[in-house]
Amino acid sequence: MQSKNKSSHMKWSWIIIVTFFALSTFDIRFGILGILCMTMPIVHALRGRGKIHCVKYCPRGSFLGRFLAKLSFNRPLPKFMMSKQFKNLLLAFMGAVLLYALYHTQGDFHKLSHAFYRFMGISFIVGITIGILFKPRSWCVVCPMGHATSLITEIQGFQSQKK
Ligand code: SF4
Repeated sequence: MQSKNKSSHMKWSWIIIVTFFALSTFDIRFGILGILCMTMPIVHALRGRGKIHCVKYCPRGSFLGRFLAKLSFNRPLPKFMMSKQFKNLLLAFMGAVLLYALYHTQGDFHKLSHAFYRFMGISFIVGITIGILFKPRSWCVVCPMGHATSLITEIQGFQSQKK
């Protein structure tokens, strides 16, 4: 799934997520930057650029593709995890967990940063785990952000067909 596109930044963008975790561990306030990782795929999709973030930029996808290739058992994901229902459920669940966590920060910057850091960390660990058990970028099959961009692109497609 690693992009062969020459203008892709996937070869090196993993550095961004490693730097994010290093900085946030050093000072939790950097955790707020997790919001960029979580919103960029959506921003691109809303601007009509489809899944360009997944193909050209995503630091998480870059990390999984680069570092798990040799560790991974390289097995296909179970079929139920590839279904749209499962992806919808995961998107709804993670969205609800994030909203719940954000609500409890009550706008406190330190707590907000911690909430984003924790969310990024948990999803990163899950991504690495399923990347080892299955194919390296299995997370990208179920990733809520990737799935949300697909849904946005689908809706935009329907709308342009109607015109
Ligand atoms: S599916 Fe998620 S993790 Fe994978 S490249 Fe897209 S945004 Fe990144």
